[in-house]
Amino acid sequence: MKKEILGIHHITAIAGNAKKNFNFYTQVLGLRLVKKTVNFDDPNTYHFYYGDEHGTPGTILTFFPWEGIQAGRRGTRQVTEIGYSVPAGSLDFWLKRLEKYNVIYNKPAEKFGERYLTFLDPDGLKFELTESATADDRPQWITDEISAENAIHGFHHITITTNKMELTAKVLTDILGYKLAQTEVNRSRFVTDAVSQAAIVDLVEAPGEQVGHVAGGSVHHVAFRVKDEETLMYFRDKVVEAGLNITEKIDRNYFYSLYFREPGGVLFEIATDNPGFEVDESLEELGTNLKLPAQYESNRSVIEAILPKLD
Ligand code: ZN
Repeated sequence: MKKEILGIHHITAIAGNAKKNFNFYTQVLGLRLVKKTVNFDDPNTYHFYYGDEHGTPGTILTFFPWEGIQAGRRGTRQVTEIGYSVPAGSLDFWLKRLEKYNVIYNKPAEKFGERYLTFLDPDGLKFELTESATADDRPQWITDEISAENAIHGFHHITITTNKMELTAKVLTDILGYKLAQTEVNRSRFVTDAVSQAAIVDLVEAPGEQVGHVAGGSVHHVAFRVKDEETLMYFRDKVVEAGLNITEKIDRNYFYSLYFREPGGVLFEIATDNPGFEVDESLEELGTNLKLPAQYESNRSVIEAILPKLD
């Protein structure tokens, strides 16, 4: 079995109000809440996972909602945009929908030959919806208001902003197996051919740009996907060989993880497909129960009383 990075696994960001976050992602964007758990380091706050029906890697966006957190600032050493893939011809639907829900957005534009539309979530996190030029056959999560003609497929790309892209580019190409595919002005598009979707990382080189501040409305880290733990440890060795610090393997209940900070300042994670979100809930039930890791189960009633109500 070839040991490769299979594109993006998940993206984790920071939010303010939990209920606002829940309503925006499940209702306005029509994603499925596939897991409702707590921050393993701070069990009095939620950890939400949104994705497709199964929570397939490449569709998973996760949030730590911290009520009252100060707003972050977009800048270098950050993931500054999250790109979702949507069906061809669906941007008019999304324009009307974002308008209806008072979402801040820009009129559609084009890059690398694809039409896209930019918007901000309630905490100011920046997104793009892209009508992908290559067919995206990933099955979508459908809601009463968003049919398969318009629904989000999963990730299209992420954008990292950096003062100088060389060292970040080297991690992408030499460790993670990405290749430089195209450049437009100061945006360089790196793609892995190991997968056909969630396969793109854009590096935007902005020499004069200020360092960003990771807080509310910003991305905390991006996780790259591997098939299993054997592949995970193979990439751990590669990161170590490149002279970078990396954590030991960590059990995240739904996947196994390693974390390392790439030289451009962004926190990268590598995460496995196994065991997945159906390890502690059936497919039908995903996201409906508050799931606690074993060490907090004895505190369930206290934790449930502290966590904000979502309905
Ligand atoms: Zn993560």
